[in-house]
Amino acid sequence: MPRPISATISISSLSHNLHTVIQQLQPDSGHASQPRPKVWAVIKANAYGHDIASAVSAFHEAEGLAMLDLDEALRCRELGWRKPILLLEGCFEPGDIQLAQAHDLTLAIHCKEQLDMLAASTATSPGLDAYVKLNTGMNRLGFSLQDFPQAYREAMMLREQGVLRHVGKMTHFARADDDPEETRQQLETFNTVTAGLPGSISVCNSAATLTSGLWVKAAGDEQWVRPGICLYGSSPFADVTAGQLGLRPAMTLAAQLISVRSVDTGGAIGYGHTFRCVEPVRVGVVACGYADGYPRHAGTGTPITVAGVRTRLLGRISMDMLVADLTPVPHAAVGSPVVLWGEGGPSVDEVAAAAGTIGYELLCAVAPRVPKHIV
Ligand SMILES: *Cc1c(COP(=O)(O)O)cnc(C)c1O
Repeated sequence: MPRPISATISISSLSHNLHTVIQQLQPDSGHASQPRPKVWAVIKANAYGHDIASAVSAFHEAEGLAMLDLDEALRCRELGWRKPILLLEGCFEPGDIQLAQAHDLTLAIHCKEQLDMLAASTATSPGLDAYVKLNTGMNRLGFSLQDFPQAYREAMMLREQGVLRHVGKMTHFARADDDPEETRQQLETFNTVTAGLPGSISVCNSAATLTSGLWVKAAGDEQWVRPGICLYGSSPFADVTAGQLGLRPAMTLAAQLISVRSVDTGGAIGYGHTFRCVEPVRVGVVACGYADGYPRHAGTGTPITVAGVRTRLLGRISMDMLVADLTPVPHAAVGSPVVLWGEGGPSVDEVAAAAGTIGYELLCAVAPRVPKHIV
């Protein structure tokens, strides 16, 4: 028998989450004449660990898919995705341009080197769709405020030459999850610098997409939002749960107890003996450890569900095992089901918070050795 651990991916929850986001994008009565923004469903990092194929079948309501990896993009085409695909980091080398053209991929253009690569390419009409990226304060990718107008002009020249087809404008927010004021300033910078330059615009990640009214303020042209994490049922906000946002967990990491024992008062648990019992404790060993992608920094007290009852971890996480407190679950035994996160267990965001990280990291980090069941 394989080790009793698996990650179950729910296609219906993925679809539900996308649908929930799309519902929120419907213009309210005040903006009835404005169409809702289109959606690039972000599926980078193997769809945040949920598997590209699951994402392609679940996100049919999206107008496009966005990712970084050319291989993932080609896989989407193989799987039959005919609508737009956006490469969020654009091309890495000249050879990527031919592939992008052969598979009709949309490119981000975030630096001069990428413009040069396009200018030197043999791409021909009808050309590639592209977004020129503006750095509005994230200071990661994108042209500076000073360089953007020239970059956009060069992109328009590439359009005249047939290398590009549609040229749009994009940026990325640094603090949409925790600072709406700063985010509005980034948006204002974007609107100012791109004013009068035609083309679709794409600015909002999950947090910005779910922040009411933010996308409405971006001026003119066709808009595309770029939600990622919320589609997987994790909240981009520290103080709002995924449940409060109407989202459902799309991944459930589940395992079983493989051993149960009692530890006497004064006994300690696991490597480093970081938890010592002040009364006798019945504990269960769970077939999940950091080699499965469970965060080693999750300490004593991290929530976990055993046989349907919420309890806590005790001591350090081992490579292949961790230990749960069975005090509230006297009926638990070897073989009892355990939910590490997801449906019927704590949210991935709760576990992430206990480990000092974010749901994104945990979802992406589930190890290849954990079998995935797509339902
Ligand atoms: C990852 C990413 C997104 C999606 O971000 P979420 O916070 O997961 O919604 C959007 N745009 C870009 C450029 C990204 O890299």
